[in-house]
Amino acid sequence: MKLSISLFLASQLVGSTNGFSQKPSFSPNKSSLKATIAPASGLIPPIIDGNDDDILDLYDTSVQKTYGRYPLTITHGKGCTLYSKDNKSYLDFVAGIATCALGHGSEELSDAISKQMATLHHVSNLYYIPQQANLAKWLTDNSVADKVFFCNSGAESNEAAIKCARKHAANRGITDPVIITAKNSFHGRTLAAITATGQPKYHEGFTYGGKMVDGFEYTEYNNVEELKKLVEEINTTPKDLEEQGRKRGLAAIMMEALQGEGGVMPGKPEFFTAARQLCDDSNALLICDEVQIGMGRSGKLWGYENIPVEPDIFTSAKALGGGVPIGAMMARGEAANTFGPGDHASTYGGNPLACAAGLAVAKAFTDRNLLQNVQDRSEELISGLKALTQKYPNLLSGEVRGWGLLIGVDVRDDVDATAGDVVGKAMEEGLLLVPAGPKVIRFVPPLIVSKEEIAKALDLFEKALEKS
Ligand code: PLP
Repeated sequence: MKLSISLFLASQLVGSTNGFSQKPSFSPNKSSLKATIAPASGLIPPIIDGNDDDILDLYDTSVQKTYGRYPLTITHGKGCTLYSKDNKSYLDFVAGIATCALGHGSEELSDAISKQMATLHHVSNLYYIPQQANLAKWLTDNSVADKVFFCNSGAESNEAAIKCARKHAANRGITDPVIITAKNSFHGRTLAAITATGQPKYHEGFTYGGKMVDGFEYTEYNNVEELKKLVEEINTTPKDLEEQGRKRGLAAIMMEALQGEGGVMPGKPEFFTAARQLCDDSNALLICDEVQIGMGRSGKLWGYENIPVEPDIFTSAKALGGGVPIGAMMARGEAANTFGPGDHASTYGGNPLACAAGLAVAKAFTDRNLLQNVQDRSEELISGLKALTQKYPNLLSGEVRGWGLLIGVDVRDDVDATAGDVVGKAMEEGLLLVPAGPKVIRFVPPLIVSKEEIAKALDLFEKALEKS
């Protein structure tokens, strides 16, 4: 099977060229994929141990086509290695997109959640949850935050931050609060989070009268002058609004400390220092989206420590539960006390199971000195990649960027090959990577990755470059 596909073309590939997932004009197999024996309840029972060969058909008939997928079914994993259904092994430098901090089949994680599952996994926030309090304490002990709100994903943590910034602005008499985000950013897929995402391609088809959610403005990332001008403009209420008794003003500046999906672009200290000052001057909030770069991926626990700047709010998800869904919106000072009872909620948010996972990841940071591992492995990865960019100047631009174990390598703009093409070749060699935009190859291994695994990944990557 040809694996050299770009993630961006994968959605076209699935259902056309590979045959096995082509949608039939009618689905005679659909009923045969379902149970044939009608149970007493009259309901069709789930397939628990189905035939793996049916999976692509089931995707075709039953799963909405929101993702372009590689033609690969992974069945199990251990550490930084994943195994496919046809028993091929892959060195995983994707980690579920910067999520599986402790790798796969982690004993710490599975012991913690098995124990929690057997004891109590969910009760709702009607009651006190010790694991939630303990995780909040660890997060606030090890950051600038005073208080935590728990949810289930990155987008939700950003929604919470956006709502908090609006409420904080409303408390100051601002009726038309504006949040500035960066062009090329990524903040998630809910309506407000995708509006915050400064990439118009993600807005297409989701507007109302051509508009997304009101109250978002975009600036070029790392451009201090553009940011200053925009803040000045936002803090001036237009005459017509004033006549209606409305007041416009800056509610927040919301930025990733390092743009992940936008091509692995590190934030510049002078930009974040200016953003901090502009927020202070406007009594607005500085929000850092730490969903991808946070929880140790940068070599420090939080991405903002690299700039360094102290946000009023920062958000986390992905690595926070090591792959068990959890999100958090953390705030300090006034922002930490902006929400009152009933202002925001999530049924699952901070349940015992998710928080037990978060605590297991947190414990690994101290038990295993994970941050030191990230820093040491990062140096090896960066120097190996720099050497490869020099060896393959016809394909790679020479640029290697990032912090810790979130590293991007640029494919030259003037060659036909995309990052997705190189990622496909690497997959053929047994190395999983992920593009960050059309021309950036992203390396995001589990934070427990070893020296030997970094060396092996560089080896496999070189083989992929030779064939690209
Ligand atoms: N924010 C950032 C910086 C991200 O990288 C992502 C996902 O890639 C999100 C938010 C959205 O997270 P989720 O997919 O968990 O909603």
